[in-house]
Amino acid sequence: MTTFTARKVPSDLAGSGWYELLPAPDAPRELEGNQTADWVIVGAGFAGLSAARRLTQLCPGDRIVVVDAQRVGWGAAGRNSGFMIDLPHELQSDDYAGGREADLAQIRMNRAAIAFAGEMVSEFGLEEHWNPGGKIHGATDGKGLESLKAFQRHLDGLGEPYSDLNASDMKRITGTDYYAGGMHAPGCAQIQPAGYIRGLADGLKPAIEIYENSAVLKIETGATHKVHTGHGSISSPKVIMTVNGHAESFGLYDRRLMHIFTFASMTRRLTTAEQSALGGDPEWGLIPAHPMGSTVRRLKQGRITVRSVFTYNPNLETTAAQVEKLGRVQDRAFAARFPMLPDVAMDHRWGGHLCLSLNSVPAFGEIEPGFYTACCQNGLGVGKGTLSGMLIADLAAGSGEPMVEEMLSLDMPKKLYPEPFMTMGARTHLWWTHRQAGRDL
Ligand SMILES: Cc1cc2nc3c(=O)[nH]c(=O)nc-3n(C[C@H](O)[C@H](O)[C@H](O)COP(=O)(O)OP(=O)(O)OC[C@H]3O[C@@H](n4cnc5c(N)ncnc54)[C@H](O)[C@@H]3O)c2cc1C
Repeated sequence: MTTFTARKVPSDLAGSGWYELLPAPDAPRELEGNQTADWVIVGAGFAGLSAARRLTQLCPGDRIVVVDAQRVGWGAAGRNSGFMIDLPHELQSDDYAGGREADLAQIRMNRAAIAFAGEMVSEFGLEEHWNPGGKIHGATDGKGLESLKAFQRHLDGLGEPYSDLNASDMKRITGTDYYAGGMHAPGCAQIQPAGYIRGLADGLKPAIEIYENSAVLKIETGATHKVHTGHGSISSPKVIMTVNGHAESFGLYDRRLMHIFTFASMTRRLTTAEQSALGGDPEWGLIPAHPMGSTVRRLKQGRITVRSVFTYNPNLETTAAQVEKLGRVQDRAFAARFPMLPDVAMDHRWGGHLCLSLNSVPAFGEIEPGFYTACCQNGLGVGKGTLSGMLIADLAAGSGEPMVEEMLSLDMPKKLYPEPFMTMGARTHLWWTHRQAGRDL
């Protein structure tokens, strides 16, 4: 028997525009008393709710309980930029490309995850939070165009379709002439992340039970595992940890997970006159040619959101001061792209937690009998969290799904470098790569 005690629990700061766009949720149901279940899933993000969904398919009638420290949608799952990406998207490269065979396998698996998510969208009526129209890549200068060309050559080698966009196509779509060129890749879905994840939680009930504001403080493993929160416990033969970087708070994958934060701002709603001054399509989503550039989305709600800057925060937290300071980078990115909207201020600013490994692999598998992890989504958890959640349920239920073997064949997350070299190295690397992003930032 092992006891895993949480050294830290998540407490994401207020401010996510996506969450604020939704009506206030009903009062939370918190875990109380001592209970038993067939399955306990810790974490109600993409991985947790996808695992729960898959278990309802594989083990109908089982009691499946999901426990989260916060409200559903309050954590990273509800505060990301919402790109559920099918293509290679290696954040630690110059142009998102990885190795050929690994990329082909990843595309196939990402598409299985998008199809799985799409089924839930149809079944739970979440179409308003789901746009399957692909994504635009935008380059702001010659260097960005070269990087896009390199990515396109990689896609040609993989047999993946895309369409080239010149500067006037980019202006026609986005309304701004800031972009020197771009491309459209069709396979990505864009979600309203808080709407999607809250919609999943509601749609999955009553087949699953969800306890919110119920941080798991301790887990005792054994023939039956016992999961403890502040006011209750659940005993279960199977426990699945889907807490992303907070795996490390329980001592799991110790010194193997990198805690990166990224930041976003969302404007107020544009007036009709401002929307006409801007022109362009009413809804689009753009990722930068350089991975360290700014991601921009125009929402059908008449707002624009900008995400930029990655920081290394090994204490798993950001601060209001950091969110405010880096918000000014988003203000500059917005002003440079949208000079025709000089009076449009940001209504919301927030930051959120990503978890990466040095070798870009997930923390996935059975670590003790009946005790599983599906964590470390390498900054791409909208798709990869969905995938690892689906597949951890397949592994735990013994379904024989072949993609499980592919996940298990990946290496373990590599050990980080010793301190203080790790923190110094990560921060220097981020500083340098942000400089390389140039106008894309
Ligand atoms: C601003 C921003 C933009 C991003 N954009 C994108 C994007 O466009 N595309 C993309 O693919 N990814 C994006 N990401 C990353 C993505 O949000 C994450 O990779 C994803 O949320 C991880 O999914 P997950 O289910 O593994 O973990 P999470 O979504 O983090 O869910 C884990 C849950 O575990 C809970 N938890 C943790 N500890 C405990 C505990 N002790 N007890 C109980 N519950 C606990 C947390 O409260 C949380 O709800 C972005 C992230 C940010 C912050």
